Amino acid sequence: MNHFDYGPDGQMACETVPLAEIAAKVGTPVYVYSTATLVRHYTVFQSAFAEQKPLIAYAVKANPNLSVIRTLARLGAGADTVSEGEIRRALAAGVPADKIVFSGVGKTVHELAFALEVGVSEINVESEPEMDSLARVAAEKGVRASIAIRVNPDIGAGGHAKISTGKADSKFGVSMSEAERLYAKASASACLNPIGVACHIGSQITELAPLEQAFVRMRSLVERLRAEGRSVARLDLGGGLGVPYFDHPPPPSPADFAAMVARVTEGLDVALALEPGRVLVANAGVLVSRVIHVHPRPEGRRFLVLDAAMNDLIRPAMYDAYHDIRPVVRPPEDAPVLGYDVVGPVCETGDTFTRERPMAEVKAGDLVAFMSAGAYGASMASEYNSRLMVPEVLVDGADFAVVRARPTYEDMLARETLASWL
Ligand SMILES: *Cc1c(COP(=O)(O)O)cnc(C)c1O
Repeated sequence: MNHFDYGPDGQMACETVPLAEIAAKVGTPVYVYSTATLVRHYTVFQSAFAEQKPLIAYAVKANPNLSVIRTLARLGAGADTVSEGEIRRALAAGVPADKIVFSGVGKTVHELAFALEVGVSEINVESEPEMDSLARVAAEKGVRASIAIRVNPDIGAGGHAKISTGKADSKFGVSMSEAERLYAKASASACLNPIGVACHIGSQITELAPLEQAFVRMRSLVERLRAEGRSVARLDLGGGLGVPYFDHPPPPSPADFAAMVARVTEGLDVALALEPGRVLVANAGVLVSRVIHVHPRPEGRRFLVLDAAMNDLIRPAMYDAYHDIRPVVRPPEDAPVLGYDVVGPVCETGDTFTRERPMAEVKAGDLVAFMSAGAYGASMASEYNSRLMVPEVLVDGADFAVVRARPTYEDMLARETLASWL
């Protein structure tokens, strides 16, 4: 069931709320999320793993809105976090600390101390210097930190070079042999409790093969560690499962993914953790924007200038990402199809969502929706060009709530202080 579809009146709705109604109340641009889609995606993912019962630590960075996290937390999700801010969000949304994983290549001493204070379930250590500082922080606090070693299995995967994290030259994690040495070192420390190993090889992965290769390597690592007499209770396999994307092969279903994981981890007797982000939230959100004007050019090009820009949705500029852009009112069958360069108002050529996109004719004042914008959309938004932070709306059936309001210009200016000598 697609929860962003045209109703009998030709109006695109999120569940049963017309997007035009939200745009009229909240203004544009605005992100709109569907509770039913979030619930369905989480449930499908969880049911696929019904036997293994892994910790499903939702990767908060994909969409850190408190209401989105809470919707998933209520279904039993934990949280994979990469900063103190994300840990605070997960806690504020109701994720218990013992379901929070703390990942990231550059955790500060302050962040490590905070994670220990609130008692997160696992800190994924990504390097030896980080392990050393965590040991010092834990010693000062008189606690023993539960850690997993983040391993770089030397397998790259993902929809774009900028979101591939698993090759040997990427900044994430340590090599297999380093992992063995660090595990031994941690086992010898009174302040560290190594409970397992972790990996995460990339994002928007649409084939099982690289994931499987990486997981097979992780399994051998677990077996080698155990052969050395180490206890390995947890295997964290990260996130990265892709979503359907226009010209890519269709991604494996959560069921196929789960079957592969079951095959690879068969008989290993380990508690699994997974860190899905995009696969849970990408298709649960759209970005609704209004056409400011259509700007015809002599060479026959046509610029569709929207009120959404790269500061609201940076994925096309940053990752050359493709988003389907649909009119919010279904166009008549015989509407002419024209080629549009779809751009925002920001003063950068990079503020181009797509070029020469064939679309049914649109006019100034029309609403359009960027589909599949629920992951890495609002979470990467900024105020570049002093444009107000884009608001977010959560729909549930016939209800909707503004879950992050658009600030006022006064709010924006009030955050700054003029230097006293000016
Ligand atoms: C970003 C990230 C994820 C989530 O990736 P998706 O592609 O959104 O599933 C999971 N784990 C870690 C460590 C990450 O950095």
